[in-house]
Amino acid sequence: MSDVELVLRSTRVITPEGTRAASVAVADGKIAGVLPYDTAVPAGARLEDFGGDVLLPGLVDTHVHVNDPGRTEWEGFRTATRAAAAGGITTLLDMPLNSLPPTTTVDHLRTKRDVARSKAHIDVGFWGGAIPDNVKDLRPLHDSGVFGFKCFLSPSGVEEFPELDQEQLARSMAEIAGFGGLLIVHAEDPHHLAAAPQRKGPKYADFLASRPRDAENTAIEGLIAHAKRLNARVHVLHLSSSDALPLIVAAKREGVRISVESCPHFLTLTAEEVRDGATEFKCCPPIREAENQDALWQGLIDGTIDCIVSDHSPCTADLKVPDFADAWGGISSLQLGLPAIWTEARRRGRSPEDVARWMSTAPAELAGLNRKGAIEAGRDADFAVLAPEETFTVDPAELHHRNQVTAYAGRTLHGVVKSTWLRGVRIAENGVLTEPTGNLLERRS
Ligand SMILES: [Zn+2]
Repeated sequence: MSDVELVLRSTRVITPEGTRAASVAVADGKIAGVLPYDTAVPAGARLEDFGGDVLLPGLVDTHVHVNDPGRTEWEGFRTATRAAAAGGITTLLDMPLNSLPPTTTVDHLRTKRDVARSKAHIDVGFWGGAIPDNVKDLRPLHDSGVFGFKCFLSPSGVEEFPELDQEQLARSMAEIAGFGGLLIVHAEDPHHLAAAPQRKGPKYADFLASRPRDAENTAIEGLIAHAKRLNARVHVLHLSSSDALPLIVAAKREGVRISVESCPHFLTLTAEEVRDGATEFKCCPPIREAENQDALWQGLIDGTIDCIVSDHSPCTADLKVPDFADAWGGISSLQLGLPAIWTEARRRGRSPEDVARWMSTAPAELAGLNRKGAIEAGRDADFAVLAPEETFTVDPAELHHRNQVTAYAGRTLHGVVKSTWLRGVRIAENGVLTEPTGNLLERRS
């Protein structure tokens, strides 16, 4: 290992074989080896010793709405990737909607890549979109390197990204399964939503009643049936309803190719604590009751829920009007997901190793990012250094998000991200960023 340029040392390195004291050798932006803790540093290599801070694989966030170009007043590649880097994330996948254009054709994908290229502080890849009239675009998008396709089953909130009905869903899913692609789904059933009481106003209870668990459960049940029939690979986005967990358990047991994510807000915030008018807590599906959250954690721990990703979906402050029916739905958490989840995981007796699996290894696997998601030889030298017992209070002014609206304001969280490393280079230290060095990623194979 004569070409080792850097050695990262910690008494707590999270590896696929467990957490241990180790020295991680880096050469040419990749992990050259995970070596014994007291290995002599090769001549010419630099040593970074993190003491007892935890060395995690860089986080992989497969659910981010960057909104660039087109709605850059909401967020942009520069601000999103700065926030991500400050929060320990080294790879993000951008959702196909809320930007203009949406990522529904190869031309649109090219536009998005051109915009992102010079602004990315971390590695960035793209999901494509499946909408009613673009079945012919799916294969070309796949061939152009998108990681899979997102669709909605109920209105998305923006008119340029319409939802699929059941027939359109089956058609798109069959097309995607035909070339071995992945369909990721916002699963809320439009008929259940339409049948639910729709009361405007500032009361969170009214908003919660308008997005019932049944809407998620029914949509997921239908999705499982299509996936089974077509032998398609599907992924449930932002699971909130814990009542759907038994359906997912049964489907996985039967061999249906389904995976599931949940998000920091569902796992750390509860309906009971949302004040009336506090629309920074509005998202769809909604944050539900504490009892539901306990069941989601159980689903994570038993492996029914595969991963945790942010669903960072920001907007300008003026769109968060105090009426839950009218406010834009979406929660910003790119920079805060790791400490938010670690705080709750710690309280529930889980380890940083669990968090690394949920927030790095599993999302990397979901997207087929086999050079990301673990500290082992051959992978990219992407890391987050976390001081797990240090605390901080969330000050929105310190966030790199373009808009500082956040449901986490004023919360005291455990886990301070000390530094973030991308391909062997420190890109963030105590919230201070270097110049952008991120790459645009394409799906391999
Ligand atoms: Zn989303």
